[in-house]
Amino acid sequence: SLNRAWNFGAGPAAIPVSVLREAQASMLDYAGSGMSVMELSHRSKEYETIHNAAIEDLRRLLDVPEEYAVLFVQGGGSTMFASVVYNLLGSGDKVVDYFVTGAWSEKAAQEAKLLGAQVNTVINTKSGKFRSITSKSEWTLSAPEKTAYAYYCMNETVHGVEWFETPEVDPSVPLVCDASSTILSRPIPIRRHALIYAGAQKNIGPSGVTVVIVRKDLLGARPFLHPVPLMLNFKTYADANSLYNTPPTWGIYVSGLVFKWLLGLGGLEGMEAINTRKASKLYAALDAYPKLFQAPVAGPVRSRMNVVWRVLGEDGQPSDELEKEFLKGAEARRMVQLKGHRSAGGIRASIYNAVPEEGVDALVAWVEEFAKKSR
Ligand code: PMP
Repeated sequence: SLNRAWNFGAGPAAIPVSVLREAQASMLDYAGSGMSVMELSHRSKEYETIHNAAIEDLRRLLDVPEEYAVLFVQGGGSTMFASVVYNLLGSGDKVVDYFVTGAWSEKAAQEAKLLGAQVNTVINTKSGKFRSITSKSEWTLSAPEKTAYAYYCMNETVHGVEWFETPEVDPSVPLVCDASSTILSRPIPIRRHALIYAGAQKNIGPSGVTVVIVRKDLLGARPFLHPVPLMLNFKTYADANSLYNTPPTWGIYVSGLVFKWLLGLGGLEGMEAINTRKASKLYAALDAYPKLFQAPVAGPVRSRMNVVWRVLGEDGQPSDELEKEFLKGAEARRMVQLKGHRSAGGIRASIYNAVPEEGVDALVAWVEEFAKKSR
């Protein structure tokens, strides 16, 4: 028997069992090479095939147009906060526009400030505890000719807020998107964006890989105020097919297996339908007990990937005690990594592609059981 837990972790997160099995089967002898992928040279024929197939499959899944490069870089999402500035700000006489909708876009804006960019905050929903997205009529976008780029986070992993429509900015302004926790959960209109990036450890594969999709004409086109370290310049990766230095070969291999798994399931439209169903079930279960559970994010922007909620006491306030009890009962039922982010508290169920609908059904059953025994 497998003894696998239902893993609701926000990242590193669940990986499909069939992918893990395939990685396991190749562990001692990958394709007759006599070694594991971890041990292969990144300059070997075998690795080159893995690498190029992963890029090609990702291009197919996301329908990436020819004029965009697909890169595997390192440093995680947090390094991208800086790399975006280094690659797109240019000489610094322009403003950068940030949509601040949660912890991750807030951090990205802070990094841009740290590097000397003039940051204009188009919206900032912090005073409302990051529970909604401000409507377009209230955005304070900068004049397009003065804007180096606009930036948003498609899904705020901590606060559970997701953009289901691409923010509308002037077509002359490059739009940058942090898609770390929603990439591959649904199709993305690539051409609306200049640059999309995602850390792998949520919906792609193991941590250590970061995917960048960038319009080729922007590569090296905007020299920063100071020379940029080669490893933070996306052109370095594009010129060398992401093999300028040693890439995270194992992570790219496993990510490639996930891409094949998704292609085998029919791609992202089917995945979106499943993800919509999974999230709807869970929100509906929580909403059915408004005196006990509070999923605070506004309906239209509730994340399909990270469902956050509080457990309320008799006084209608979040109760640490009841939340502990909920988590304990969940663990007893093999549902793990449900604790909310340390900055937000409460409960968070991350239900990425690799969390099967059966796992969500188990969680829904526990939500209902808990409600019935509590009140
Ligand atoms: N952006 C988002 C949306 C994230 O969820 C995270 C990590 N949870 C990051 C950026 C930072 O990624 P990393 O930990 O890979 O630096």
